[in-house]
Amino acid sequence: MKIAVLAGDGIGPEIIAQAVRVLTELQRDGLKVELESGLLGGCAVDKAGVPFPQETQKLVTEADAILLGAVGGPQYDTLPRTQRPEQGLLRIRKLLNLFANLRPAILYPELANASTLKPEVVAGLNIMIVRELTGDIYFGEPRGIEQRNNQRVGFNTMIYSESEIRRIAHVAFQTAQKRNRQLCSVDKMNVLECTQLWRDVVTETAQDYPDVTLSHMLVDNAAMQLVRDPKQFDVVVTGNIFGDILSDEASMLTGSIGMLPSASLDENNKGMYEPIHGSAPDIAGKNMANPLATILSLAMMLRYTFNQEVPAQRIENAVKKVLIQDYRTADIYESGMRQVGTVEMGDAVLKNL
Ligand code: NAD
Repeated sequence: MKIAVLAGDGIGPEIIAQAVRVLTELQRDGLKVELESGLLGGCAVDKAGVPFPQETQKLVTEADAILLGAVGGPQYDTLPRTQRPEQGLLRIRKLLNLFANLRPAILYPELANASTLKPEVVAGLNIMIVRELTGDIYFGEPRGIEQRNNQRVGFNTMIYSESEIRRIAHVAFQTAQKRNRQLCSVDKMNVLECTQLWRDVVTETAQDYPDVTLSHMLVDNAAMQLVRDPKQFDVVVTGNIFGDILSDEASMLTGSIGMLPSASLDENNKGMYEPIHGSAPDIAGKNMANPLATILSLAMMLRYTFNQEVPAQRIENAVKKVLIQDYRTADIYESGMRQVGTVEMGDAVLKNL
């Protein structure tokens, strides 16, 4: 099993270093993985002139899974769009056909106070958002800004084929089968034809999964329900743009952006695993970043790509224990807890592993 490790920018190298320590420990216990590092994002622009260099393309194509820190930073915001670090991310998803993005929003009981919502609304929250990642208005053509009738007009195309909808629906139904068997599909079928097709195809796909209860919700209502009563959801499936927004909303219900992992999978469960947060330039290099989202991304990798449930649970249990033992990085700190830095949090996870 070969893992491509792309630390990226900002806090990326710091949090990835802690995840690599966990992997090294598991290697010592017999997990057969090889690691190889590569450049992606701003660091690749600096060293190779482009955000997704040829060598990295080869590395990620050959690897079984990819562990990514984060990319981006203010110093790259003025570059031409094609050279920005985020382009590296979009291109990697497209190149590897990583069409299914799984983002759990879990609120550990110890962190219930970290949410801006009342603890009774969010305590025990455990939602999985399944977002389509390679289609929709983000990739649809035609797109652009042009002159029409003496003024600039901006336009994009929202487009999904039924095969694209069906394959993400299958991932979502199968994910629901491993959880509480409730799937909510989110669309805007009252206004957008594209999402009428979405609803039709998801409904058709449901016939293959009689054990899963399917419901549908309009995206504006879903945004509201996520805040009003988030525990009504088990698995949510939606398209790329709605999923982008709703998954950020769901993750912020937990109040701890530094805690949440994600997986982006292809049809054969090859995947890219990364924390949901960005490169946090404001705290980069200060040993302040929370490495737990990255370490939990590793657990998702072991579960979804490598089918290694035992070490995946070892990692998740170690993370639960450090929270029970009151270890907190600054982002999840409350008075009376033990405040630690990135490396010390890594130490605590290793000790509990
Ligand atoms: P961000 O997620 O980097 O940071 C938002 C806030 O959360 C900041 O205050 C940051 O300090 C804090 N934070 C984030 N991760 C943390 C962690 N692990 N521990 C403690 N605190 C943490 O979002 P942003 O500031 O909007 O973006 C910064 C850069 O990251 C931008 O260049 C953006 O384009 C990029 N970005 C990259 C990704 C990615 O690589 N997948 C995702 C989002 C943003």
